[in-house]
Formats: sequence, C-alpha cells, structure tokens
Amino acid sequence: MSYGGRTGGVGPEVALGQRPAGPLSGRCVHRGRHTAAGSPVRLGVGSVLRVACPSPAARRRVPRGVPAPGAPRARCARPRPVRPRPRSAHLPDGDDATETARSPRGSHRRPPVRRPCVDAGAGGHPKSGLDLSRQSRETVPVTPRLNDTPYVVALDVGGTGMKAALVGADHAPLHRARRPTGRDEGPDAVVDNVLSFVTELRETGLRRYGAEPAAVGIAVPGIVDDATGTAVYSANLDWRDVPLRDLLAKRLDAPGTPIALGHDVRTGGLAEGRIGAGAGTDRFLFVALGTGVAGAIGIDGRVEPGAHGGAGEIGHITVRPDGPECGCGRRGCLEVFASAAAVGRAWAAACGDPAATAADAAEAVTAGDPRALAVWRDALDALAEGLVTAITLVDPRVLIVGGGLAEAGETLLAPLREAVRARVTFQQLPTIVPAALGDAAGCLGAGLLAWDLLSAEVSSR
Ligand SMILES: [Zn+2]
Repeated sequence: MSYGGRTGGVGPEVALGQRPAGPLSGRCVHRGRHTAAGSPVRLGVGSVLRVACPSPAARRRVPRGVPAPGAPRARCARPRPVRPRPRSAHLPDGDDATETARSPRGSHRRPPVRRPCVDAGAGGHPKSGLDLSRQSRETVPVTPRLNDTPYVVALDVGGTGMKAALVGADHAPLHRARRPTGRDEGPDAVVDNVLSFVTELRETGLRRYGAEPAAVGIAVPGIVDDATGTAVYSANLDWRDVPLRDLLAKRLDAPGTPIALGHDVRTGGLAEGRIGAGAGTDRFLFVALGTGVAGAIGIDGRVEPGAHGGAGEIGHITVRPDGPECGCGRRGCLEVFASAAAVGRAWAAACGDPAATAADAAEAVTAGDPRALAVWRDALDALAEGLVTAITLVDPRVLIVGGGLAEAGETLLAPLREAVRARVTFQQLPTIVPAALGDAAGCLGAGLLAWDLLSAEVSSR
C-alpha cells in the first residue's frame, strides 16, 4: 500500500476559534485545544472546569507559573485555538506566502460553540487517534515536568522526503526543515535518518530555547501501531515491525520524553480536521488522493484508528469487482481508478506521453480535450462510488479532499459534488471541500499528536 503524494490544496489561512472574551466569564472559551502549559487545575472525573482562560496578551505579560492579577487561581491550561499563518504547499520551508485556494469554509462550518473546558478524558478534549483510554481521567494539580518547554518536535516521514518542524503550544510551526528520506539506502538507513533528523531538531530547539522538546510526534506511512509506537509495515520504506518509539527514546537519551507515532494519512487528517479545512466541525472524513487513496475518520477533534489501526482505508473499497488487480490483492479497488497515480497512468495511455501526470490530465480537462474528459469522468465515477460507500458508513458533516489530485481544485471538486449527489438516496450530503494545509498537514498533525500526548500525560498525573 502506498499513501504518498499527499500534497493537497494550497494554503488558505486557518481561521480558528474564538478569543477569550473579557471580562473573565468563568468559562473557558477555547474549543477544546489544550496544552500542558499553564497552571494546573483540579477536576473530578467528568466534572466541568468552570473557570476562564486568561487572554493571550495576559499570558504573555505574566511569567509562567505566576497568576495574572485578577485571574482565577485555577485556570484552564489549554491554549486558545491557533491561527497558523497562511502557507503554500509548494513554497520553501519557512516561507509562508500567497494564498491561492481558500477553502469555502464559511459554508460548512457550524456556528462556533463555546465549550466549557473539561477534563481531557471527559469528552471535551479533542484528542488524536492515540489510545488514551488507559489514561486517568482525573487532572490533578501537578507541575508538568516540561511545563516551561515551549515546543515539540514534529516529523512527517514520507516515501521520498521528510518534513519536520518545531511546533509551539499554539500549534504554529516555529522552525521548519526538510531532508530526503533516503529510501534507496535501505530500511535501516531510513530508520537512522529519521533518528538523526529528530536529534538535530532537538539540538536546534536546545539552542533556540534552552530546553528539551516537550514531546516528539512522528507520522509514518503504512500500518502503524500507535499504542506500542511500532511501524508495523510500510511498503514505501520497506519497514517491518520497526520499534521506532523505543529506538528514538534510546537515541535521544532523554528519558521520559513523550513520543507519539501515528499513521501518516490519519495524522494529516487530524490536522485538517482540527486546524485545517474541517476546523469547527464535529464529524469529518478526510480523503487523500495521492499515490494511493486513503482516508481519516474524524470524530470530535480526534481521528478514529480502528481496532487494528486500519480504519479509513477507503482506497480498498471495491468499486468495480471485475476491474484491474490492486496492490492489496483484490480487484477493482477505488485507488486503482482514482488515485493521482492512476489518473496519471490513464492519461499517459490516452495521450501517448508516458511521462504525463494527473496534473497534465487536469490541464487537458480544463482545455476541453475530449480524451482527458473521458479519463477524468472515469476516475470521478469510481471516486464517487467509493465515497458514497464511505459516506454511508461514516455520515460525515464535511468531506475534505486532499492529495495530489485535489490540486486540480474545482476541476475535480465541482463534478465530484455532482457525481456524489447523483448517487445518494437517503444519505445526507456532506459539504465537500479542498484540504487547506497542503503537504504541511502531516507535519502539523505530528505536532498535534505530540501536544496531545503531553497533555494526556499531564492529565494522568
Ligand atoms: Zn486494494
């Protein structure tokens, strides 16, 4: 299975959340995005924290650990929702620039809901797909071990390249870096490249902030066991049962540093659903149309991993039982027809240029080439079939389309909406929108995994 090529729509600014209203109202107005930073609070299981979060300005003025004048003694330890700077999926690291494809987010977002801050385990805290069920649901008044550390290390390991960042508590990247994965050097070398990259990022953080990273989050392709931190299988990286979390813990020689491991598409979906195109919605389905097709099922700010880490593999929904064989061993799977790679192959065959890509096909569609229109229609029909099955199962409020094929924008999405609409009967149509974070989604999602893990650790003390 292959999930590469997740580059999706390009970079609209991510508008999120509400600023805390003043004067303090006695309720946290953050919509469930929390951090380990700040003063702890005491909560019983299922109890609701009815205190206000100080304003960001107040937080900046007041030294850590010192209550702001007039602030309640117990305050929400979670950061306000972030507003990452606009970014383009195609720009060099650290160079946020023009927006070219803003998501029509306003059309699908529900009215902002002011949620009370609640215990992380009591249902009000959007979590990642990590299994936190074993964590205590009681938040106790302890000082987080890494309370003063302002960043986590986030890394997205792709088939050809790795994207990394130091991510702040507001989920905005503070520093970004890339390097090749080094797949040609073999699976052991890839592991070493991952470990040394994280080590370098940690050293960068130490130089900049004088502190260890609060946590590390890594997204990898293939089958991932979140609970044990094991990369179970990756065809792209030729990995089998790589205990990445343990290996990294040894390499870092920083005992106790929380390390989260996540599946790349689910991790990207986590970011899209929480701080990207799906921000503000309670149920979403993220679909990445890249080298393959994969999905992420979002529920209340977290992504469902499934019982065995296989939830969301919609690329292997059978849409044409007599179709070509898929890499999974079955025939007629969705990704055989509707991945960016599949569309590129189909267009290459149709136009006679073996180097033609899905982007070329989209261009030819825009130009009205009848051969391209036939290729496009075939892919859209298959995609709509697969998505209707997914919609029937998941009933998402928002369907986020990302990956390389989604870079075609409305050339893809406009006919896709119609094709889905024509196929549903009783199902409610979700709002279909382009991904908003581009190829930064995996890295930003890895940062969310790390902060979530840290937050859960603090909550369990
Ligand atoms: Zn398949």
